Amino acid sequence: MHPQLEILLELQDLKAQQREMEVAEEESSLEIERKVFHVRLEDAVAQLQTKIQEMEAALEAEVASRYRLIAGKRARAVAPVLNGVCYGCFMAMPTSMSKTNEQLRWCENCGCFVYFVD
Ligand SMILES: [Zn+2]
Repeated sequence: MHPQLEILLELQDLKAQQREMEVAEEESSLEIERKVFHVRLEDAVAQLQTKIQEMEAALEAEVASRYRLIAGKRARAVAPVLNGVCYGCFMAMPTSMSKTNEQLRWCENCGCFVYFVD
């Protein structure tokens, strides 16, 4: 897998985790906080944020600018491609595109970075 694609996928996962924790925080479920996280939720969210910033800094300039553009508009900046369809926008990808994750590519329609799962 392309190293920048790996970072993008990890970033997406960290952000999803952060969103889930922020929801838990809003519900102020002290029970979850004590039993599951063993740390103060807001500290854990802040640590995730630090890690996210570190990883965003590891993106190449060109990748980072596309990432910021998409991440501002959508919950996911990376979408899977299954059976030739981008799951960011559900449009068919060009059939000429080789199914490899060794290159960093994006959907011409929605702009999401894509990775192939089939
Ligand atoms: Zn798309």
